[in-house]
Amino acid sequence: MSRFKAIRIVKEPAYAASYSEFDETELMDGDVTVRVSHSTVNYKDGLAITGKSPVVRRFPMIPGIDFAGLVETSSHKDFKPGDAVVLTGWGVGETHLGGYAEKARVKGDWLVPLPPGLTAAQAMAIGTAGFTAMLAVLALEKAGLTPDRGPVLVTGAAGGVGSVAVSLLATAGWRVIASTGRPEEADFLKKLGAADIIDRAEFSNPGRPLGKERWAAAVDCVGSHTLANVLAQTSFEGAVAACGLAQGMDLPTSVAPFILRGVSLLGIDSVMKPKAPRLIAWDRLARDLDRDKLGQISTTIGYGEIIDTAKEILEGKVRGRVIVEIG
Ligand code: NDP
Repeated sequence: MSRFKAIRIVKEPAYAASYSEFDETELMDGDVTVRVSHSTVNYKDGLAITGKSPVVRRFPMIPGIDFAGLVETSSHKDFKPGDAVVLTGWGVGETHLGGYAEKARVKGDWLVPLPPGLTAAQAMAIGTAGFTAMLAVLALEKAGLTPDRGPVLVTGAAGGVGSVAVSLLATAGWRVIASTGRPEEADFLKKLGAADIIDRAEFSNPGRPLGKERWAAAVDCVGSHTLANVLAQTSFEGAVAACGLAQGMDLPTSVAPFILRGVSLLGIDSVMKPKAPRLIAWDRLARDLDRDKLGQISTTIGYGEIIDTAKEILEGKVRGRVIVEIG
């Protein structure tokens, strides 16, 4: 198959994404070619497909920051034809042709083996969002936070990163407070293990530099005033893992939580995470993520629904995680 179906983003005459075809000769350099079976839709894919933020920096581009599939050809020492592999991040779908295609060619160093016990579809139900949630949990653990210190807050809880974080933290024994703007998702979040649901509106506006201490730890997917308010209400020597910017990229805070309460702000970047901690995170996901909950979080769509779903994720209409069947 030298031609294969793929979504194509072009910049001229106007920024647009369409269902299209690519030829294998158009694929970029890499030592492993993968027959993609599944992908997913992350918030960043929404930004890429709509062009709402300039995440795509090469044209034409195949979007899709994650994929799973089988190795077709490889000159990389760790992979041979038929191996099941997973890719998240590394600029795929941004600067390197991505996963919304039947084929992808990438550096073998970017790939991880499909973790034992996970299917390709489940790996994409996790995807960058779930991987990021796991990195956030690992960062809180590395900072010495344990469930006996008090509750943990998750903002953007009904989204992809948030819903996996709620599930992982509840399974690890934390009392999870889920912050959402969608009260209709309260039951969904409780089934994932959230003990309390709070309205995200209470964090959306400028707040005081310090407030009542309410949680020992937090996973924040939202940024801006939300993150500032979350920091202000984190208890003594607590920590907040900052993952996202769904409200905004700004952080209008003060030093008060840091110098008066010893709160730590932990930055999470899933894209360039080196291979060794990547493998640790995937191993933990494969062992700890409850498969029933993963099923509840996930919906499956076909290749032809990617563009509409990418628009919906930016409108905050997508619940949990979306698996895309490519093959
Ligand atoms: P989703 O769109 O699935 O989830 C984002 C959630 O944020 C929404 O579901 C909503 O949750 C909440 N939200 C949306 N808009 C607002 C707003 N204006 N104010 C407050 N809350 C809002 O996206 P993902 O879970 O995939 O990604 C979440 C964030 O994390 C994104 O900003 C994304 O770019 C970032 N990210 C960062 C990564 C990293 O490596 N650091 C990797 C992956 C994602 P609810 O409906 O519950 O209120």
